[in-house]
Amino acid sequence: MTRVVIVGGGPGGYEAALVAAQLGAEVCVVDRDGLGGSAVLTDCVPSKTLVATAEVIAGVRDSGELGVRIGRSSPDLGDVSVEIAKVNARVKALARVHSEDIGRSLEREGVQVLRGTGRLVGADRVVATLDSGETRELPADVVLLATGAHPRTLPDAEPDGERILTWEQVYDLDELPERLIVVGSGVTGAEFAGAYNALGSDVVLVSSRDLVLPTEDADAATVIEEVFTRRGMTVLSRSRAQTIKRRGEGVVVTLTDGRVVEGSHCLLAVGSIPNTTGLGLETAGVHTDDRGFIEVDKVSRTTARGVYAAGDCTGVLMLASVAAMQGRIAMAHALGDAVQPLDLEEVAATVFTAPEIATVGWSQKDVDSGRVQAVGIKLPLARNARAKMQGIHDGFVKLMCRPGTGIIVGGVVVAPHASELIQPVALAVSGRLTVDQMAHAFTVYPSLSGSIAEAARRLHLRGQTGAT
Ligand SMILES: Cc1cc2nc3c(=O)[nH]c(=O)nc-3n(C[C@H](O)[C@H](O)[C@H](O)COP(=O)(O)OP(=O)(O)OC[C@H]3O[C@@H](n4cnc5c(N)ncnc54)[C@H](O)[C@@H]3O)c2cc1C
Repeated sequence: MTRVVIVGGGPGGYEAALVAAQLGAEVCVVDRDGLGGSAVLTDCVPSKTLVATAEVIAGVRDSGELGVRIGRSSPDLGDVSVEIAKVNARVKALARVHSEDIGRSLEREGVQVLRGTGRLVGADRVVATLDSGETRELPADVVLLATGAHPRTLPDAEPDGERILTWEQVYDLDELPERLIVVGSGVTGAEFAGAYNALGSDVVLVSSRDLVLPTEDADAATVIEEVFTRRGMTVLSRSRAQTIKRRGEGVVVTLTDGRVVEGSHCLLAVGSIPNTTGLGLETAGVHTDDRGFIEVDKVSRTTARGVYAAGDCTGVLMLASVAAMQGRIAMAHALGDAVQPLDLEEVAATVFTAPEIATVGWSQKDVDSGRVQAVGIKLPLARNARAKMQGIHDGFVKLMCRPGTGIIVGGVVVAPHASELIQPVALAVSGRLTVDQMAHAFTVYPSLSGSIAEAARRLHLRGQTGAT
């Protein structure tokens, strides 16, 4: 029986363990902080649980337009507020339960789980230092490294867990930050800034670029920045934090141009660092890049024979879904099952702001730079009948297809629950469907997804002629 040892029990590790067990291997997972990893315990699941509460609050606040009145006397829906201690308790309990559920799935499949820290002592051996203090040597035919990443901090901005916070620490707050300064306007920064703004904090977003969400579709990022400012958030563009200091019951952020911003709390969202130090990579011949990410190919092989890596420790695309896919691919490859190499053009991703931004396939930037030949269309949602009924004013559907064949190569949806709406576009991209095939399928009337079909219909002739 093939012995598989997996270091790290996040989505990269536990999804791989399930596949390896199903393929008949003897599987052992060594995990330090809890099954589900950062994805379940500190990052993805907690932040989306917080966003779920923020969505309800924002929905109630905006519902006056739909004729909703809460309470007998007050037509003012601005009164709605949140009990953050209760919200945070729910977030942590939900994460814990989900982690336990993953533990039970692994147990059902016969996977051995060891709580402790693993490190390579060769390409075919892992040493685990268990929480009990015991050390175990684990011989392996196949090793998968899936150790994830941790929040990056700034040299002059040490988080103290009370006022200066990483995204892992916000769930320990008993009170809603009165004035929250979010440093970093990438996906994590934008999601937290939007959520706390909806929950009732006064939010200042320190953004180093011209526009928030610099790696996203620029039209989508423009919508989000407009919505942020309309909802009262202060967005400081082209601004970088130099130092962040505690002052009494607050924080002072000094920007590189000398400006000073004061707040009650500061959240650092300035990227992640891979958990690859002390892993024994050199001993086994596993190469990393200059930032410490493990180098892998499209089937998750590292430079050491028999050693694979998946997830954030590879820096390929730091998403739970990609980590899980890399882990599954690694096991399929190692254990001789059918393998489809990782294709990043097919990754569907979402920024959980309000509205959400969901994307798949080639981007507008790829088209504009000539990297891919495509024609596209962008339809504002405000014209969609369902959007009107629901009081949705912001957002759009963008679809891109090859000129000549009309094959769909990418799409962007900016809408409430865009994460759910992107699925037909993702299916079209992975199945190489044409705009005509997409347009031919029925959509429910009225529905937001009707706009996706309409975009496909509008591309009918442009897909044939290549006209832009
Ligand atoms: C705030 C935030 C929100 C996010 N939201 C989303 C989202 O909505 N959707 C999405 O797809 N992605 C999201 N992500 C990204 C997602 O969380 C990561 O891509 C995902 O966690 C990566 O999974 P992983 O298995 O590589 O690592 P992790 O989930 O980090 O798990 C790694 C595990 O390995 C353990 N470990 C580390 N070193 C060792 C060692 N030496 N020995 C034993 N164990 C070790 C760690 O303790 C941890 O349990 C978000 C990220 C952040 C920061």
